[in-house]
Amino acid sequence: MISERIKNMTPSATLVQSGKIADLKSKGVDIIGFNVGEPDFNTPENIIKKAEEAYHLGYTKYTPAPGMLALRQEVCTKFKKEYGLDYTPAEVIISGGAKQSLTNALMAIVNPGDEVIVPTPCWVSYVEMIKLAEGTPILVALDEKDAYALDIDKIKAHVSKKTKAILINSPNNPTGAVYTKESLKQLGNLAVEKDFYIISDEIYEKLVYEGETNCCVAALSPEIKNRTITINGVSKSYAMTGWRIGYATGPRDIIKAMSDYQGNTTTSPNAPAQYASIEALANSETSVEEMRKEFDKRRMYIVERLNAMNHIQCKAPKGAFYVLPNISSYFGKSYKHYTINDASDMTNYLLEEYKIAVVTGAAFEAPESIRISYSNSMENIRIGMDRLDEALKKLE
Ligand code: PMP
Ligand code: GLU
Repeated sequence: MISERIKNMTPSATLVQSGKIADLKSKGVDIIGFNVGEPDFNTPENIIKKAEEAYHLGYTKYTPAPGMLALRQEVCTKFKKEYGLDYTPAEVIISGGAKQSLTNALMAIVNPGDEVIVPTPCWVSYVEMIKLAEGTPILVALDEKDAYALDIDKIKAHVSKKTKAILINSPNNPTGAVYTKESLKQLGNLAVEKDFYIISDEIYEKLVYEGETNCCVAALSPEIKNRTITINGVSKSYAMTGWRIGYATGPRDIIKAMSDYQGNTTTSPNAPAQYASIEALANSETSVEEMRKEFDKRRMYIVERLNAMNHIQCKAPKGAFYVLPNISSYFGKSYKHYTINDASDMTNYLLEEYKIAVVTGAAFEAPESIRISYSNSMENIRIGMDRLDEALKKLE
């Protein structure tokens, strides 16, 4: 019999959808994939070379549980250089993707019944991770009209004696929102006043547009730093999703607890990938900037195309590589045997009838929207938008 813990878990909707689309594509179905949450670029060549070097230099064995010292030192260098923050390697852990760092962090601080606040829309796995740690997710809906800006008053209203942490993500998946420094400072001060942690998932930090910069929460004040666990990784910034390297920084005792948990569950992350990640963090600024600029072109194009469609209004998000248009004005409409009653019906209709893959907003606590990832070539985005335009016109 399967445990209650797993029976009560919803599988990752993004991964289920990716599996389904990969299966259809392998059967020759011509699908335009707007579902993928990973850069479509190849990992930069200098990083690949370092991985090859790693195998020959013998970086093929276990590493310490919190990761290779040289990579942890490189993470410290990065935080100093980019945010003026001082961390020591004992305040850094390397994990099998940011996903594992997030799980480690929640396992390290959450007791059964503790509450973890999550502003929504939010990434699919947060709620399940909190439940696995036996915490209670407290979802706080942000307003689409405010472009999903962080609403501190609303968050404050949900803080209770049981609040252990807030889990935030800026730049955000799925909204693309980038929280302002002012709102993050207010949140940080609230965390200090009410004594809870901030888990700040900054994995899309490099993918910001229109002159935006990532605000590193831990850099806002020493008191805020003392209660912030920053989550990051190489997946999105360096097109390295399959390498599975993420990292976290935070107070020494929490990092130690995360490392103890990781040591017993996975030992350490992949050694050659850790070695190559040093190169990613130290020497890849030019490649990151090239990818960012390309994402920016696609972002502007897709937003323009969406806004030219009847009944779709889509503000240009300033970060990540997603747009989350509201499609609720199509609810109740029909075409052929399809009736669109919710975002999942729309997702299904677009895939079956028009061969466009998106993810239902329901998976992200955004039931009136669909998530479109613009991590695809301009040519495919153009074809996909033509198809979407036609699909929506059929519903009018
Ligand atoms: N956080 C967010 C917001 C994400 O979108 C993702 C994407 N998978 C992750 C964490 C996990 O990233 P990683 O590949 O490093 O596990
Ligand atoms: N984060 C990506 C997404 O949102 C990748 C898949 C996943 O890990 O959920 O699609």
